[in-house]
Amino acid sequence: MPERFPASLQQKIEDRLRYYEDLGIRLFYTDRGPGGTALVAQQAIASAASPAPVIEETVLPKPMPNPSPAKIAPVPARPPLAVPAAGPSLFETTEKVNDDTLLKIREDLGECTRCKLHKGRNKIVFGDGNPKAELVFVGEGPGADEDAQGLPFVGRAGKLLTQMIEAMGLQRSDVYICNVVKCRPPENRAPEPDEVAACSPFLIRQIDSIHPKVIVCLGATAAKTILNTTRGISQFRGEWLEWRGHKLMATYHPAYLLRNPPAKADVWKDLQKVMAELGLQLPKKSKS
Ligand code: SF4
Repeated sequence: MPERFPASLQQKIEDRLRYYEDLGIRLFYTDRGPGGTALVAQQAIASAASPAPVIEETVLPKPMPNPSPAKIAPVPARPPLAVPAAGPSLFETTEKVNDDTLLKIREDLGECTRCKLHKGRNKIVFGDGNPKAELVFVGEGPGADEDAQGLPFVGRAGKLLTQMIEAMGLQRSDVYICNVVKCRPPENRAPEPDEVAACSPFLIRQIDSIHPKVIVCLGATAAKTILNTTRGISQFRGEWLEWRGHKLMATYHPAYLLRNPPAKADVWKDLQKVMAELGLQLPKKSKS
């Protein structure tokens, strides 16, 4: 039987299907037809409470067009959730620098030795993506793969983050991705307060310079650090928060999703709220 797809494309298809299945979509190809060309995809959403992209009569879920001019109906405004802070936040008090650029911020960071994390790092992981992004993802800190490559979210969790971004109809190059600290903490531990204090001015300057519409905090540590709260992420995950004049939402870290795939449905719900806020085309609702 002749090969229908190149191996690389087939791998991409398999990865994409596996990702959507993890989101709760089950695909069953029921009618290949005598010529093997007529494929009908039936989808069953795992839970009515977990809306996920609807896939109809197509072999693959197609990424939505980008940029997407199709505006969705405005989402009724909800007042931002107030997350009680544990004290004055480093992030809120940092002054805005006028005419800042990512290049200048990187130059100012230099071969930084401002905190003890510099001792164990291979490469500073400054951040990556579109300097004019409307959407910024902020993680906690680099892991081993990121430390080796000097780029954020490039390991297994990074691959999942890329799939999440593509499911939104965007590419990685459309968004900006960075971390609370720019050097890898030993044994992937959470950054300590003095390390966050030393590194946070650079994150603030990055975000102020990009001026995104939406910030998504990935994981409890990033969210609790930025928001300066001791509350568990489950208490404010998926809620719109106000932070330095930006809309901010916290959701689970992709590394957590690798350990706990059912939580992908929650993250997908959060990302759909982000898509609505950015005016991106939402997946069709199920016709049940
Ligand atoms: S974590 Fe930040 S402040 Fe600490 S050494 Fe690295 S770049 Fe400098």
